[in-house]
Amino acid sequence: MLYAWVDGAKRPPIAKGERTACRDCGGILTAVMPVENIAHWRHKAGDCDRWSEPEGPWHLGWKEQFEIECREIGLIDAATGERHRADVLCQAGTPHATVLELQHSSISEDERNAREAFYGQQHRMFWLVHIHNENAFHGYSFKFSLDFRSRPHTIDGKNFAIMRWHGRSKQFIEKWKRAHSHVFFDCEGHIFYLANQAVSKRLNSPLKRGEFALCHLSRDEFVRAVKWIDA
Ligand SMILES: [Zn+2]
Repeated sequence: MLYAWVDGAKRPPIAKGERTACRDCGGILTAVMPVENIAHWRHKAGDCDRWSEPEGPWHLGWKEQFEIECREIGLIDAATGERHRADVLCQAGTPHATVLELQHSSISEDERNAREAFYGQQHRMFWLVHIHNENAFHGYSFKFSLDFRSRPHTIDGKNFAIMRWHGRSKQFIEKWKRAHSHVFFDCEGHIFYLANQAVSKRLNSPLKRGEFALCHLSRDEFVRAVKWIDA
């Protein structure tokens, strides 16, 4: 968790030894100031959001694209009491409320479904999936797969293109194709919108296994989409 409330201000830790309380669970938070990573807060007795994952510069960079009051918003399911922190929540409490989840590490399909069910209850939900080569070589597979020329398709004025996943395992791309929310990929700062099940149905040809459709957009267009600012 990168932000906490200290004396009425929401901010990252600025010095070793700082302590404050988590506004979501009341637990004690201590400052962690690693030499090789970003400053963050750690729950002394375990994070109240069991989905919380280690964060790095990629998460920080994206959170900083949004106003501080939209970053790391604790949400609670009134029926079950379950709590999770949305990475970004814009336009909270309005019909345009949008949750953005920043996904750097790989997650299973069950985890993806659970998060979509939780955040999707009262929000539009966006994923931003970081494509890189840390654990699997998805970065290489993705870049080899990019082909906007061979099979272009226009949907609602947006330019999609159908392409084939180049990696041996199609699991990664198939999992994200089956998402119920909106999935965006960030590959070296380039943003791509992935056609999910609903969008794929509107393409002229059904997608075979390993095939997927993307629409390229700028970082600015992406941020505006999360904020629901009409172009
Ligand atoms: Zn907490």
